[in-house]
Amino acid sequence: MGLLWPSVALANFYDVELAYHVDDSLQQSAAQVQALPESAWRSNGSRNLSLGYTQAAVWFRIRVTSLAAFPQEGLLEIGYPVLGSLRIYQTEHLRDHTLAPLELGAERPFSQRLIRHRNFVLPLNLSSGESTEWLVRVETKTSMQFPITMHDRAVFEDEEQSRLIAHGVYVGVVLAMLAYNAYLLIALRDIVYLWYIGWMLTFAGFVLTIGGMSYQWLWPNAPSWNLTALPMLLSLATLCGVLFMSSLVQLQAHSRWGWRMSRVLVALQLTLALGALVLPYKLAILMAIGGAVICMLGVMFLAARLAVQQVATARMFLMTFSVVVLAGCLLAASKLGWLPASRWIDHAPQISSALEMLLFSIVLAARMEAERKLREQTQRDMLAQHVQWKAELETKVAERTDELKQLNHSLAKLSRTDALTGLFNRRYLEECIDTELARSQQEGLQVALYMVDIDHFKRLNDTHGHAAGDVCLRAVAQRLLACTRPGQDVLVRWGGEEFCLVALWADTRQAADMGEQLRAAVCDAYIEHGALQMKASVSIGLAVGSPRTRLEMLDLQQRADESLYAAKALGRNRCVCATLPSGLGSLLPA
Ligand code: GH3
Ligand code: MG
Ligand code: MG
Repeated sequence: MGLLWPSVALANFYDVELAYHVDDSLQQSAAQVQALPESAWRSNGSRNLSLGYTQAAVWFRIRVTSLAAFPQEGLLEIGYPVLGSLRIYQTEHLRDHTLAPLELGAERPFSQRLIRHRNFVLPLNLSSGESTEWLVRVETKTSMQFPITMHDRAVFEDEEQSRLIAHGVYVGVVLAMLAYNAYLLIALRDIVYLWYIGWMLTFAGFVLTIGGMSYQWLWPNAPSWNLTALPMLLSLATLCGVLFMSSLVQLQAHSRWGWRMSRVLVALQLTLALGALVLPYKLAILMAIGGAVICMLGVMFLAARLAVQQVATARMFLMTFSVVVLAGCLLAASKLGWLPASRWIDHAPQISSALEMLLFSIVLAARMEAERKLREQTQRDMLAQHVQWKAELETKVAERTDELKQLNHSLAKLSRTDALTGLFNRRYLEECIDTELARSQQEGLQVALYMVDIDHFKRLNDTHGHAAGDVCLRAVAQRLLACTRPGQDVLVRWGGEEFCLVALWADTRQAADMGEQLRAAVCDAYIEHGALQMKASVSIGLAVGSPRTRLEMLDLQQRADESLYAAKALGRNRCVCATLPSGLGSLLPA
C-alpha cells in the first residue's frame, strides 16, 4: 500500500535535485536568491531535508529533469503538511515581474490550495529531457522539514487511492475501537475505558493532524487552530495515557508514591495542554514533546517497578507500551532534526498507534478475564463460607433446640415436682387421674385414695424449728414412698404436711393393709436431724371405691378427707377406712 511502501516506481522518470539556502535576514528576494553563487547552496544529496526548528526563512531549490522518452504529466509533492508559509517561484518566470509567486502553506485556508490534498502538491508537466527549476521560500513555526517526491500523475492518483484506503483503515480501526470501548465503559462502568477512549481520541487526533488530514477534513478554515491543536492533542494524549496506565495497573493500590508521581505527571500534562492555547507554537510543541517524553519514561518506570512486583497487568502494559514509546521517540527525534525525516517515521505513530489500540484492547480483555475469574473465585469462596456458616448455624440451632427441649422437660418436671420432698405434687395427680380411672376400669381394680396428714406438725415446728420440720417432712415422704409399688401407685405431696396416695387394689382389705403399712412406716423409727431425734406419726383417711368419672373421684377424695378428720378425732396415728362395713375406727392400730 502507498502508506507503507512509498512510491519508488517511476522515480527514474525524473531526476530530482534538492538544495537549500538559509536566509536569516528574512529579507532576500527571489531574484537575489537566484543570483547567489553555487557555494551558497547546501545539499545532503537527499530529497528529504530535516532542519529542525528555525526562525530563518529557508529557500529550497528544486531541479527536476524528465528522463522519460515521452512527455510527462507530473506532480511535485511536499510531504510535510504543517509547514506554515510557502512561496513558490518557477525560475524561468522570475524575469517576468508581473507573475506573482504561488502562495501555499498551513497558515492559509485549505480552500486556497491548487490541488486539494493534505500535502502540498504542484502540477509539473515536462516533455522528454526537459528541465525546470523551482525556488520555494519556507517560513514556519513548525520544524523545518522538506520531504519532496516527484510523481507521475496517473501513478500518484492510483497510489492516492491506496493511501486513502490506508487512512480509512486507520480511522476505521480507531472508530471501531472507540465504539467497542464506549460500550465497555457503559456496560462495566470501569474508568479505565474512559481513559483508553480519551487516549485513542486524542492520539488519533494528533496523528491525523500531523498528517494534514484533520486540516483537510475537520478544520480546513482554521489554520491557526491547526497549530494549536498539535501540541494540545499531544499533551492530552499523554495525559490520558498516564491516567489509563495508572488505572489499568491499579497504581493507587500497588504503590502510593507511584500514584502520587502519576498525579504530578497528569498535572504537568494538563498545564501543557492549556499552555498550548497561549504559548507560541515552537515553545508549545517543544514543551509538549518534552512532557510526552518525561511521561513516557515515568510511565515505563512505574510499570517496570510493578512488573518486577509480579503485577500481571503492568507486565502486559510494559510490553505493549514499548511499541508506542519507540514510535514516539523516533517521531520526536525526527521532528527535532536528529534523524533524517522519512515517510516511515512520519507514519510510525499511525502504524504503531493502530497496533497499540489493538494490543491494549487485548490487554484490557485479559484484565477483564482476570477480574471475572477473581470475581467468580470470590463468589465461590463466599458461597462456601455461606454454606459453612449455615451448617454452623444449623448445628447451633439444633444444640439450642436440644437445650431448650431439656430445659422444657426439666421445667415440666419441676412444675410437677415438689421441691422439698422430691415427690410429685398435686398438679401431677390431677394429670394422672384419667389414666388411673381408665386403668382401674380396664383391670377391674378398686381405687384406694389415702389422705395422709402428719400429726401435731405445728408443734414439731414450734419446738425444733422449721429446718427440723423440713427434715421431718422429707423423711415422712421417703418412708411413705418406700411403701408404694413403683410405676403403679401415685404418691404426691398434697400441700403443707399432707400427702395423697392413689393405689389400685383388688379389694378393700388390701387397701386397708397398705394404709396400715404407711402408718407404721412413719412412726416405727426416729427421724434424725443432727443430734436431734424426732418421732413422727401420721393419721390416714382412706376411701375405697370404683369411681368412673372425675366427679366420682372427687367424691372419693372427700370421703377420704372425712376419714382423715375421723382419724384425727380418734386420737391420731391411725388409718380410718370410710368404706369398711365395720365403720370408723375398725383399723385402729394396736
Ligand atoms: P394436726 O395433728 O391436727 O394435723 O396438727 P398439726 O399441727 O399437724 O396441724 P396444723 O394444720 O395446725 O399445722 C400444720 C403445720 O405444718 C403448720 C405449718 O407451719 C406446717 N407446715 C406446713 N408446710 C410446711 C413445710 O413445708 N415445712 C415446715 N417446716 N412446716 C410446714
Ligand atoms: Mg394438716
Ligand atoms: Mg397435721
